[in-house]
Amino acid sequence: MKESDILSEALVKIKNYIAANKDQDAPIVKFRTPADLDKIIHFTVDTAGVSENEFLDLLDKYLEYSVHTGNKQFLNQLYSGFNFPAFIGEIFSTLANTSMYTYEVAPVATSIEKEMIALMNSYTGYSDGDGIFVTGGSNANLIAMFSARNRILPDSRFEGYDRKVKLKAFVNEQAHYSFDTAANVLGIGSKNVVKVKSDVTGKMIPAELEKNILETIARNEKPFFVAATCATTLLGAYDPLDEIAAICKKYKLWLHADGSFGGSLILSDQYKALMKGIERTDSFAWNPHKLMNIPLICSALLVKKRGTLQHNITDINADYIFHDIDEIEDLGKKSIQCGRKVDAVKLWFAWKYFGLKNYQKRIDNLINMAIYAAKKISDHPQLEMLVPRQSFAVCFRYVPKFKTDLNQFNLDLREQLRKSGKSIVNYGYIRKSLAIRLVITNGELLEADMDLFFKNLLDAANNLESKCQLELEIH
Ligand SMILES: *Cc1c(COP(=O)(O)O)cnc(C)c1O
Repeated sequence: MKESDILSEALVKIKNYIAANKDQDAPIVKFRTPADLDKIIHFTVDTAGVSENEFLDLLDKYLEYSVHTGNKQFLNQLYSGFNFPAFIGEIFSTLANTSMYTYEVAPVATSIEKEMIALMNSYTGYSDGDGIFVTGGSNANLIAMFSARNRILPDSRFEGYDRKVKLKAFVNEQAHYSFDTAANVLGIGSKNVVKVKSDVTGKMIPAELEKNILETIARNEKPFFVAATCATTLLGAYDPLDEIAAICKKYKLWLHADGSFGGSLILSDQYKALMKGIERTDSFAWNPHKLMNIPLICSALLVKKRGTLQHNITDINADYIFHDIDEIEDLGKKSIQCGRKVDAVKLWFAWKYFGLKNYQKRIDNLINMAIYAAKKISDHPQLEMLVPRQSFAVCFRYVPKFKTDLNQFNLDLREQLRKSGKSIVNYGYIRKSLAIRLVITNGELLEADMDLFFKNLLDAANNLESKCQLELEIH
């Protein structure tokens, strides 16, 4: 078989896979235990390569047993959906396989990344802004903290960080765990990330932040970094940026906004008020691979001031690679990566394809679908909201007609639904109560998709309820 024949067959597989995303009867996952999967797929690499037919068969199996995240009933993670132009952009960027460090090897991609950073900054209001595509929101948070550390202790770039200075960072108690990891990586230590209390809806309480800052100052410690979260991972809460910015200004602290989940809301005229004050932050993590449905990874760290990244982070001198001959800045100079994928390219293809207006509509639609789902929950006698909806996340549970352990019941319900392959939804704990967490992240969802989700969930709940009742009668 020639390579071109393998390619033709692979293209057919791709087409079938994409078509199955729209098929409501196609399972989202054929769940197998690791041991069973081992029996189905020969994972070991053998001395001799496989035949062309075996190669094609491996392609089939890879797709067959992977989770079909492009299916509209995949409601489990903070990313989902199948974004057609972005998919094509991903394939073409891999096809041209170039690296983002210099204009010399990536002329088109360099201009594209610059254009995307400028477009994104037109929404943040950073009028002299800059930014870089990074390998995910966690890393954007790390680089923001790194940049803040080197602003307050510029010598640490050369001398290393002096541990006698007790640096303190402040985040919402419900912030993403990546801030702890960042403090660990930077030698600050995760114990020095202060968890600021949030209110019942999950928003950071500004008065608590100021109280915590003053406590550290009283102990002779050095506050340097505050991260506000734009949509917390569990509840989808937006921290009040304006009030937090006023505190950061007063104490001269770097203010970072972690919009890894909800940052794309900035595109929505209708709902962006939740991010009021974003222009007052120093940096902003924005993950198009979540709510803009760009294939993983697509993530940017934006900074308010041009030159910040290059100054605080790299300051490299590597003329062997950066010749500065092309009348455009080599983007590798402000990145901690050397080789870097051209992740801005698929975003550009998608944004070009849909246009500014339609991307805005996709984001509006996410909120509209979350409102629709929340209403279905309030209207149903057996469903109960655990916290009022803030944005894209809807946290609720099923309350059966008989008395039972609600956490166990809802955990079983979620597992039954997941293993059925019909819909996949996540769960989390709100204080001590287990909540089913429906996250609306696919801009193409329709009311009919939400209806189907609730039908699948209620079918599974009814099954589980009859089973429990039967057991109650036996005992
Ligand atoms: C997902 C998420 C992150 C991490 O982003 P990755 O791209 O997965 O590394 C950080 N913060 C919040 C609030 C998130 O939801």
